[in-house]
Amino acid sequence: MNLVVMKFGGTSVEDPAAIARTAAIVAGRVADGKNPVVVVSAMAKVTDQLLRAAAAAAQGDRTGALAISSRLRSRHRDTACALVKDAAAIAALVQVIDDKFDALDEVLRGVSAILELTPRISDLIVSHGERLSSRILTAAFRERGVNTEHVDAREIIVTDSEFQKAAPLDDIIEKRAPEKLLPLIAQGKVPVMGGFIASNEAGLTTTLGRGGSDYTGALVGGALNAATIEVWTDVDGIMTADPRVCPDALRVRVISFEEAAELAYFGAKVLHPATILPAVKKNIPVLVLNSRNPGCEGTRIISVAPHCKSPFKSIAVKKKLSIIDIVASRMLMTHGYLSKMFAVFDKHRCPVDMVSTSEVSVSLTVDSNSSLPEIAADLSQMADVKYEGRKALVCMVGEDIRGQNGIAAQVFNAIRHVNVRMISQGASEINMSFMIEEDDADEAVRSLHAAFFKEPDPAIFDLEARKQLSAVTDR
Ligand code: ADP
Ligand code: ASP
Ligand code: MG
Repeated sequence: MNLVVMKFGGTSVEDPAAIARTAAIVAGRVADGKNPVVVVSAMAKVTDQLLRAAAAAAQGDRTGALAISSRLRSRHRDTACALVKDAAAIAALVQVIDDKFDALDEVLRGVSAILELTPRISDLIVSHGERLSSRILTAAFRERGVNTEHVDAREIIVTDSEFQKAAPLDDIIEKRAPEKLLPLIAQGKVPVMGGFIASNEAGLTTTLGRGGSDYTGALVGGALNAATIEVWTDVDGIMTADPRVCPDALRVRVISFEEAAELAYFGAKVLHPATILPAVKKNIPVLVLNSRNPGCEGTRIISVAPHCKSPFKSIAVKKKLSIIDIVASRMLMTHGYLSKMFAVFDKHRCPVDMVSTSEVSVSLTVDSNSSLPEIAADLSQMADVKYEGRKALVCMVGEDIRGQNGIAAQVFNAIRHVNVRMISQGASEINMSFMIEEDDADEAVRSLHAAFFKEPDPAIFDLEARKQLSAVTDR
């Protein structure tokens, strides 16, 4: 078997044209003798809209919630009808869509009656996005000659009961994925399953957190020992910066697992931060590819990337962060203080991104979240505490940053007009991070990009687009 997991993101299945392109990509892999397993996200924006419907219901706005659901029902029905022409197949598919929306409406009515939305019910509501998209793809691909079979991801991806951000139970997944998928593949079928959705051991629906379909793809790829895990999205690969912020960003041809993991963790939305874990465990290459430009070779993520002559490979930004300043003169000459302080973050299950200490003060950065006032209240038992939101962490990733003399001076010179609040360098050889105001972040990325990607190493970066652009401007 030549197994390849192909994960398609929301934009790759946003409308009938996108789904038809996706079908052609999968058919191409089959024609090449590969055995694909397809993992698909909800159609673009559907997850956001389901969450909006859930929030409306929780506030008692039953009509608003049902109106969102009704629009989504039409969008899914219309997409199905545009793609599937066989009379029996479309009748069955429309029935599946209607049944799912009837069930969803029932839940929304319930939430609006009791005015309470638990994480568990939120997951049940939001799971409809992937449950629907995977059904539509199964039928649409079949009509285009791909011998698909729908698989309910919740029977394979089993997690703990941390609804909305559940952690996979690897041992069960390692057993279930081959058990469910390999017999289908052996019959020449292409399994199609939703990403992001899972279930706990009691069979209740959970989700892996926003952007989690990448993670599903990697979990399935890992459990099946696939030859490659493909992440199909709407950009040519991992770029030197978010192309929405920095339009002249370049495609990175090849990058290491470690570098990609840092970028994903520090805000490069193109990959869910946990995606790399299963791939590293089994040493499976991950390819990031563009479903709108399938001829492009994308980015290859592998265990050891070739040497890069440029100091950095990419710049990521994580926004919506808060900085917490903790000042305590009692910290002077004491031990055990930091552990007491971190116990507070642990109690509130709040991950800390960056830490900087002096003799009497500690500054930390965390995701802005609703438990910040409670965290501050607990910390204020032992120190003076201040916190401030709207911060951004800029993370520059490259190989051996520590070994490059003068690199910090170059970085801070490039953004000398920006107020830098915290700096971290040294924790990792491949990452240099600093904290700035959120409003300065986009401009800082563009300045850094202009400074560090003037003469990029052609072995690592794709310079074609830049060459074409300068040919046009030279004319
Ligand atoms: P999908 O729906 O396919 O999962 P996402 O929206 O989650 O796609 O991720 C793709 C987006 O990630 C791109 O459109 C791009 O704006 C953003 N992005 C952020 N940083 C980067 C980066 N370094 N390289 C490529 N894309 C990035
Ligand atoms: N549909 C989910 C989300 O929007 C998961 C994903 O797309 O990866 O977060
Ligand atoms: Mg994504």
